[in-house]
Amino acid sequence: MSRAAKQQLNDGPKIRKEKMIAAKMIRIYCKKKHHEQELCEECRHLNEYVMTRLSYCKFGEEKTACAKCPIHCYRPVYRQKIKGVMRFSGPWMLLYHPLESIKHIPIPEKLKRPLSR
Ligand SMILES: [Zn+2]
Repeated sequence: MSRAAKQQLNDGPKIRKEKMIAAKMIRIYCKKKHHEQELCEECRHLNEYVMTRLSYCKFGEEKTACAKCPIHCYRPVYRQKIKGVMRFSGPWMLLYHPLESIKHIPIPEKLKRPLSR
């Protein structure tokens, strides 16, 4: 009956990674702002919402950053919330998870190779 049920949920490496990063950022936000060890109810809600949006993202593995996306599938209220989370947690991500923050910056080949000889 329902057409939505037929849509395949995204589960590629890119989507999975975005989920992981988003979840980490929400966790940092809640910990610092709401002083909760586990996610508070509001943040858990937001987290679930973000995970669902990513699962259903039309672009799947082809997606760009959500901020650059032409569709903006988030409902405005959640969009505001996640914007706040990103702004708040962005700098903390650099501190806590620098690899994930900078991994998408291309590193020149010659820097990757250890200096042999
Ligand atoms: Zn919270």
